[in-house]
Amino acid sequence: MKYKQKIAHGEFDFIDIIKNMFVDTNINNIIGIGDDCAIIPSDDEIIAISTDMLIEDVHFIREATSPYDLGAKSLLVNLSDVAAMGIKPYFSLLSISIPKECREIWMIEFMKGYHSVSKEFGVMLIGGDTTGSIDKIAINVVAIGKGDMKNVKKREDAKVNDRIFVSGVLGQSADGLKDILNKKYNTPNALIHKKPTIAVKEGVWLGKREEVHAMMDISDGIASDIKHILKSSNVSAKINIDKIPTETTIEDAVCGGEDYKLLFTIDHQHAQKIKSKFKEVFNCEIYEIGEIIESQNNNIIWLDNNVEINPKWSGFRHF
Ligand code: ADP
Ligand code: MG
Repeated sequence: MKYKQKIAHGEFDFIDIIKNMFVDTNINNIIGIGDDCAIIPSDDEIIAISTDMLIEDVHFIREATSPYDLGAKSLLVNLSDVAAMGIKPYFSLLSISIPKECREIWMIEFMKGYHSVSKEFGVMLIGGDTTGSIDKIAINVVAIGKGDMKNVKKREDAKVNDRIFVSGVLGQSADGLKDILNKKYNTPNALIHKKPTIAVKEGVWLGKREEVHAMMDISDGIASDIKHILKSSNVSAKINIDKIPTETTIEDAVCGGEDYKLLFTIDHQHAQKIKSKFKEVFNCEIYEIGEIIESQNNNIIWLDNNVEINPKWSGFRHF
C-alpha cells in the first residue's frame, strides 16, 4: 500500500500514484499508463487506445471558438496521440455533456466539424454517450488505432546518441492562446490554436521506419514533454535552443502547450537519411534540435549556440 503514503503535488505525480496503485491489475504484454496510448496485442495486430477531454473554460472559451472548429479539434487532438505511437487511427467514441442553450444548432455544427475530421482521416465514430449539463460543455473522446507491433514507437525507446527531432514550428498555439485571451479570436495563430494541424500520416510513416526510436506528440511543450521520454528511456538530452524552429519567443516555443507536432528520436547514423526522405515524401522539414546523451538524472541540458544556459523552463501542467 505504498501509494497511501504519497501525496500528489502535481498532475504527473497523480498519474504516477495511479500507475503504482493499479500495478496489481496489470496483464502481461499490455502497455498501460505512461505513453500516448495504451497498446493491447490482439492476434497478429495491436490495438492502440487513447482518451482526452476538452472542458469549457479549461481547454476552450465558448465565445472564442465556433462549434464546428471545436468538434474538429476534439477529434484531432485524440488522433494525434494514436499517430504519435506510429499507428493509424480507425475508430473513435465521443461523449459529450451539453447545456440547454447548445442543444440545437450548436450541437449539429459541433458534429459537422467532428464529421469532417472523421472523413478526412478515415476514422469511424462507433459510439459514445450524450448527457445534459447544467452549465459548461464537457467533451471526452476515445481514439482507437490498429497496426503492427513492430511499428509502435514508445517513449521508452530513446537510445544514447539518437538525434532529437520535431516535426514542425513550435509556439504558434501558445501565441494563438494569448491572442484569444486578448479577445483577438481570428488571428492566424488563434486559428491554429482552435484547429491544429495533426501529423497523422507523418506519424504513421515514421512508425514504419525502424531507425526512429522513441516518439510522442507535443501537447504540453517540449520542456515538459521530452522529460517523459528521458524518464522512461532513462537517458538525458542536450537541446540546442538556436535550432528550435519558431517564430515566437523561445520560452513560448518550449513551454507553450497544444502544438501537436511530433517529438521523436532517430538513430544518429540514419538521421540525415530519414530527414531527406521525409522531405521527399511530405515536402516539408523535420528539425533536428538536439541529441540523447547518457543519463544524468534524466535532465535536459539547454544550449544556446553551444553555450550552456540554465533556464527555469517547464511546460504546461493542469495542476
Ligand atoms: P497525453 O498528453 O499524451 O494525452 P497525458 O499526460 O494526459 O498524456 O497522460 C499520460 C499518461 O497517463 C497516459 O498514458 C494516460 O493514459 C495516463 N493517464 C492520465 N490520466 C489518467 C487517469 N486519470 N487514469 C489513468 N491513466 C491516466
Ligand atoms: Mg500525447
